[in-house]
Amino acid sequence: MSTNATRIESTIGHLVKALKTPTIGRVYADLATTARTEGWSHEEYLAAVLDRQVTDREANGTALRVAGAHFPGVKTLEDFNTDYQPGIRRDVLAHLAGCSFIAKAENVILLGPPGVGKTHVAIGLGMKACHAGYPVAFDTASGWASRLAAAHDSRTGIEKELKRLRRYRLLIIDELGYLPFDTQTANLFFQLVAARYEQGSILITSNLSFGRWGEVFGDDTVASAMIDRLVHHAEVLPMDGESYRTRTRREMLSESETDDPEGSIFNRR
Ligand code: ADP
Ligand code: MG
Repeated sequence: MSTNATRIESTIGHLVKALKTPTIGRVYADLATTARTEGWSHEEYLAAVLDRQVTDREANGTALRVAGAHFPGVKTLEDFNTDYQPGIRRDVLAHLAGCSFIAKAENVILLGPPGVGKTHVAIGLGMKACHAGYPVAFDTASGWASRLAAAHDSRTGIEKELKRLRRYRLLIIDELGYLPFDTQTANLFFQLVAARYEQGSILITSNLSFGRWGEVFGDDTVASAMIDRLVHHAEVLPMDGESYRTRTRREMLSESETDDPEGSIFNRR
């Protein structure tokens, strides 16, 4: 290699470090070879190099956001079979997957009995948000309750915590309704919802219809004031029907009864 080429190489090495663009450092030489053989213009080469850096940065950003969201498992909307959920508004679900509700700080409420896929859809929408560049935080209602209580009891206080949570554009509160809250926790939840009103999105899943949220918050007035703020700009998706777990188990059982040409193994002679 000529001394000139070596000098350029080390200059680029310094510059990509200063710019914090390691991908450029990794790909520029190979792309330069391609550019020469393919006869790319200088502009085409620059575009190709920058494109690789941006693609890598976006992928890394998504991975960081997914890790930071603390989802309880890996679920995607693509794996959610809407045939099992005949009542669900598919158009609404598809619209939510586009994440424009987050840009508008709107909320999503998923209501239905256990096993119908509420947590699955919540994680799936959270993943879409991470891909779209929005920071997400996932926890159960009782998880949030202890986080808010800890912040309330700490020296920094609840106000500071609510302010910190603003950096998450989507807060997911899973399983509201399984455990009732004491008065202080109910109050902290109300403050959370009030602080995010028209500022940041909340996605809540619950096994209880709105009419029964008073049981969770120990007070119908607090519950309805909260529901008011939540649903003012919100998509409420009722998810009914049978538990996916029981349904698939039953289908597996009935398939083995009808599809087995030999009949039940217990009948074989
Ligand atoms: P919920 O939160 O409503 O109690 P989950 O989301 O935990 O229900 O769903 C229970 C299990 O069934 C999960 O493993 C979930 O991935 C699966 N599941 C539920 N509904 C569907 C569906 N329509 N398509 C695919 N998997 C589903
Ligand atoms: Mg659940």
